[in-house]
Amino acid sequence: MALVVMKFGGSSVADADKIKLVASKVVAKKNIGNKVIVVVSAPGNTTDDLLKMANKITSNPSAREMDMLLATGEMISISLLAMAIDSMNVKAISMTGSQAGILSDASYTCAKIKKVNPKKIKVWLSKNNIVIVAGFQALNSNGDITTLGRGGSDLTAVAIAAGLDADSCEIYSDVDGVHTTDPRLVKDARKLDYLSYDEMLEMAGSGAQVLQSRSIEVAKKFGVEIHARNTFSENQGTIITSEDKIRRNKMETLLISGIASDKNQVKFTLIDLPDIPGVAAKIFGRLAKIGINVDMIIQSAAINKKNDISFTVNKHEMKKTQIELDEIATELNVSEVLCDENIAKISIIGIGMKSNTGVAAKMFEILSKTGINIEMISTSEIKISCIIDEFDITKAVEELHKGFGLSKRSK
Ligand code: ADP
Ligand code: ASP
Ligand code: MG
Repeated sequence: MALVVMKFGGSSVADADKIKLVASKVVAKKNIGNKVIVVVSAPGNTTDDLLKMANKITSNPSAREMDMLLATGEMISISLLAMAIDSMNVKAISMTGSQAGILSDASYTCAKIKKVNPKKIKVWLSKNNIVIVAGFQALNSNGDITTLGRGGSDLTAVAIAAGLDADSCEIYSDVDGVHTTDPRLVKDARKLDYLSYDEMLEMAGSGAQVLQSRSIEVAKKFGVEIHARNTFSENQGTIITSEDKIRRNKMETLLISGIASDKNQVKFTLIDLPDIPGVAAKIFGRLAKIGINVDMIIQSAAINKKNDISFTVNKHEMKKTQIELDEIATELNVSEVLCDENIAKISIIGIGMKSNTGVAAKMFEILSKTGINIEMISTSEIKISCIIDEFDITKAVEELHKGFGLSKRSK
């Protein structure tokens, strides 16, 4: 008997009819002879609505209470799905993250899973139940509820698949799988049959929200193969697996597998920094200390023993960064701190880059032909990212998608 983990995102459990549809898919999976664990997210926009509600109460909510609040969203879905399955005369039991043995570190709002203790899940599976687990939530060693960061139900599903050595891990959403770019933005986007963990990690880290980055890190670490697919169709989705397996089986590899965009970035520039050792260490050390994640960094050449440093951070960390930089600027006698919110990051990703030269040149040429100015560039072995004007982002995605031959018509 195979053990299958099925995860359904918020769009798949957004209303009663969708929950009934999910119930029938889960029951069908069990009826063909599988043991089934289901992980669900909060219905529709519940998590966003809860966040908004908290922000109406206070601009500085306690992280512990925030997790207490956000965890309620997933509890709506687990109980309703259990009722829907039960009304089909199939045995099902819902469990919170803590009941399911999902144990995390102490940090709130973005906790890391430390261990899955699957004892209870196993007991109920052996009693022939479908086990429904609330995604996105865990229990820390203080006995408090924690949450796993936005999109964290993906992580719950992968951690359970790893912890119980499941035969498959299926992550369902409202699209057919991982596409060459966001199919909601580019109609011509093509579904990918296979993608390596590293490509998916870079795509998720560059703004493709279809799967949570950390869930892919865990999947790679424990060798959990993910099947990303659509709740509302029976189509084969995308298999996310090791590069080794993709190459061994000579599956289709493209020079560029995906293009991702991220409007959630903001650029800071410190003007006229002293060109002496220790300045960059001071700035980025201080930001790291208060938990700010810096993405791209560039430093200009020194003129008259002064230079400029620009870097990007996530938009939701803008205020915190600004306050810290104002202090640092006074200490370092910086002449100005600039903040530009109207930027976006465009990234191209593909393992094909490892063995092909000229990919960056081609990207820059496409952007230049489209009249788009590049403000910053960063590269990794399988990714090139550029910061551009936010206004140009849709055009940039479309032109790069076309230019690298990714659209359905160019297959
Ligand atoms: P869920 O609510 O099921 O967790 P998400 O909203 O987190 O679903 O992820 C699915 C969405 O991800 C899609 O609706 C799509 O717009 C978006 N998306 C962004 N980039 C991509 C991509 N490259 N491939 C597929 N979907 C993408
Ligand atoms: N409900 C959480 C969120 O909206 C977790 C998830 O959907 O995976 O981020
Ligand atoms: Mg999601």
